[in-house]
Amino acid sequence: MEDLDFAHVARRQFDRAAPFIHPLEGWKGMAEMLFAPERIIRLTLPVVLDDGYIHNFEGYRVLHDNVRGPGKGGIRYYPEVDESEVIALATLMTWKCALVDIPFGGAKGGIRCDPKRLSKNEQRRLTRRFIAALGDDIGPHTDIPAPDLYTNAQTMAWIYDTYSMMHPGTNNLPVVTGKPLDLGGSLGRDSATAQGLYYVLEHLVAINAFPDLPSLVGAEVAIQGYGNAGRNAARIFSNGGAKIVAVSDSRGGIHDPNGLDLGLVDIQKEETGSVVGVPGTKELAPRELLTVHCDVLIPAALENQITTANAGDIDAKVVIEAANGPTTPEADDILAERGIPVVPDILSASGGVVVSYFEWTQNLANEQWSEAEVQERLRAKMRTAADSMMATRAALLDKLGAYSDAWAERTGDDTPLPRPTLRTAAHVVAVQRCRRATEQRGIWP
Ligand code: NAD
Repeated sequence: MEDLDFAHVARRQFDRAAPFIHPLEGWKGMAEMLFAPERIIRLTLPVVLDDGYIHNFEGYRVLHDNVRGPGKGGIRYYPEVDESEVIALATLMTWKCALVDIPFGGAKGGIRCDPKRLSKNEQRRLTRRFIAALGDDIGPHTDIPAPDLYTNAQTMAWIYDTYSMMHPGTNNLPVVTGKPLDLGGSLGRDSATAQGLYYVLEHLVAINAFPDLPSLVGAEVAIQGYGNAGRNAARIFSNGGAKIVAVSDSRGGIHDPNGLDLGLVDIQKEETGSVVGVPGTKELAPRELLTVHCDVLIPAALENQITTANAGDIDAKVVIEAANGPTTPEADDILAERGIPVVPDILSASGGVVVSYFEWTQNLANEQWSEAEVQERLRAKMRTAADSMMATRAALLDKLGAYSDAWAERTGDDTPLPRPTLRTAAHVVAVQRCRRATEQRGIWP
């Protein structure tokens, strides 16, 4: 049975990178220190619902690592949120921020709730209760939340307002990112995750990283999830000349090999709450979308979607992750064996945190950058990070034998190391940066 505990998945990804990280004194202690979360907060959040009953929600905020800067990471509202998931997501945020080289560590938060069954007023009370309970465990220079699954600019506005009521008289805008434009938000933040993903793929295609995919123009794209990440990806890829052949949401998917009319899809989603039912399209079960024939598959919904159960059936030339953790390590192995490259979340889903960093920077300086400036900086950040991943992978492949020998000497395990994937290379870049920063700062005291 495949172990789908998300914290264990994050650990297996880390362990695959470990043999390629330059050996150092006390390696094992350093590895454990880099991987272990620094702080886990678990809260009970009583909220009076509209019907007068009190419901006790569970809330979490995890600061994984802050060696390179304050914690940064989204808050999700979802029925399956638990401690293990939030720890794993915070860990990925540490690697993400290091890989795109922004001065943050990793954090994440979540409330176990079904936002679809909460009124707007209930969501506001729940958000305020959560932020009040976190108190000074978040702050502009300690831990800075952002949107994630089923939270949005409105949620961020409530977070800002609550924190600001508790800290009057100072510029509190940098306490949270993903805010509405009228409240210190950044141009380009709303679509930044999808836009960053597009910049990465556009660049990798341009440098011929995927010979089977020579151009995005005319490429057939399937997208799982039609929220912030998925819906924006559909629009951006379509504007770039790609053909969106399938999309899905929690209720199901739709498929048209001739290309979907996104205008009609948006109307359907607005009117019915789901993409399912657009005239002239074939209906798919939610997971069926992942095995549709396409050139580019974009999982943009949840973790653990591509597993050993379906990795053998993926029918794409490239998988590029918009969601956090959609592919398990064992599915990665199957896809690698089948020659299907996976562009990893810590690179391709990092556009959101990059523009969050831009928003934070603008808030600290009381500035507003133009859309063009945001896009130019985002594209540059994404390309540089993609280049670091590619160069590192090439260097690792070049010295695979030497790394295997060194690992055998260190651990006594002489099984040759597997060829590093893009994910492993991206982790190596990120973990190395955190390791260097840790060594440079020295371990307190
Ligand atoms: P969102 O709430 O805006 O949208 C989520 C979408 O996923 C919805 O369309 C929902 O219907 C769909 N969905 C839920 N369950 C599904 C299922 N079983 N099958 C198919 N679709 C399903 O959330 P989002 O912000 O777009 O986040 C999506 C993913 O992207 C998450 O993994 C999130 O962590 C990641 N992500 C988001 C951001 C961001 O800035 N919003 C940044 C980086 C990564």
